Amino acid sequence: MNSDIKIQMVDLTGQYERIKEEIDPAMERVVGGGRYINGPEVGRFANAMENYLGVNHVIPCGNGTDALQAALMALDLKPGDEVISSAFSFIASVEAVVLLGLKPVLVDINPDTFNIDPQAFRKAVTNRTKAVIPVHLFGQGAAMNEIMQIAKEHNLYVIEDAAQSLGAQYLMNGKPQKLGTIGHIGCTSFFPTKNLGCYGDGGACFTNDDQLAQKLRMVVNHGARKKYFNERVGMNSRLDTIQAAILEVKLKYLDEYISRRQWAADIYFRELKDVSFLTLPYVDKEAGHSFNQFTVKVNNGKREELKQYLKECGIPSMVYYPSPLHHQPVFAPFCPPDLSLPVSEEASRQVLSLPMHTELTEDEIIYISQKIKAFS
Ligand SMILES: *Cc1c(COP(=O)(O)O)cnc(C)c1O
Repeated sequence: MNSDIKIQMVDLTGQYERIKEEIDPAMERVVGGGRYINGPEVGRFANAMENYLGVNHVIPCGNGTDALQAALMALDLKPGDEVISSAFSFIASVEAVVLLGLKPVLVDINPDTFNIDPQAFRKAVTNRTKAVIPVHLFGQGAAMNEIMQIAKEHNLYVIEDAAQSLGAQYLMNGKPQKLGTIGHIGCTSFFPTKNLGCYGDGGACFTNDDQLAQKLRMVVNHGARKKYFNERVGMNSRLDTIQAAILEVKLKYLDEYISRRQWAADIYFRELKDVSFLTLPYVDKEAGHSFNQFTVKVNNGKREELKQYLKECGIPSMVYYPSPLHHQPVFAPFCPPDLSLPVSEEASRQVLSLPMHTELTEDEIIYISQKIKAFS
């Protein structure tokens, strides 16, 4: 491999360079137009996103964490109500639950998909349970057919955390549907490294329910439908006009970006299939993997050694996530002291995410794979 190729975990500027001709004038229009907050680009982007997702309402907001908070607020839950989610995720998936005085109930994951185990979810339901937050981790859909069925039986709200899976197609009862549009509310993030990333912070909620949409719009706007008439406690959470302008350009390329990630994943699969100390990502045929991350399990107990060795070869890698949520000090008070979620705990010990982005080349993936194959 050419020695001046530098392998990156993500390559945001490389992706920008390819669409610079469209992005720069879009940003200049915002800067020159002066409507930095709630400018026309915000509504236009929300409409374009509604069309893309096939959903009735897209409510833009400040970031993915805010989207999850706004979703929970819009459900008008009571302190102490229980919200179930999986223990293997980014902190934000469950943070707002605690912030709002609700009770997080963490359950284990499926060892193949890293997503919430539907049977564990079913077992955790009590008469205080009001909602479940399935996270479509690393870009692959959680088992939504089963989750929606269980939620329906127990009259629970479903908030999808689609921060890593935006644009992925899920086969819902055999019919393709975009992740984030299946539950009552879907939440996503436009953090730069997500499937559709802006150049700062951004997020959105999706829903097909008109009443929830109205509540979400109020919640993100100081609890007001009309200016200076505040009906409830809300947040100040907006997508900046300049980010909306960037996203309006990039949304046209989202499917291409996802195909590119899937193409890169296919090369990893081809190159790494015989490596005995790795468990490669499991791809659920129903769940449409968008490969926001390509996450393997290092099953010989040498994850840290492999990570260090790759670093010495000039190959970055990341551990998402080194600790399951029930071991985070912040959630400990909400978990039984002896809570054991062995699949999540094992995942935290074994996972390693390899470089994955839209600019990765076949040569780079072959180089990464060769180095991995030489590790023992
Ligand atoms: C990125 C992410 C979030 C939060 O998004 P931000 O925009 O960074 O607030 C929430 N959940 C998951 C699974 C994420 O990956």
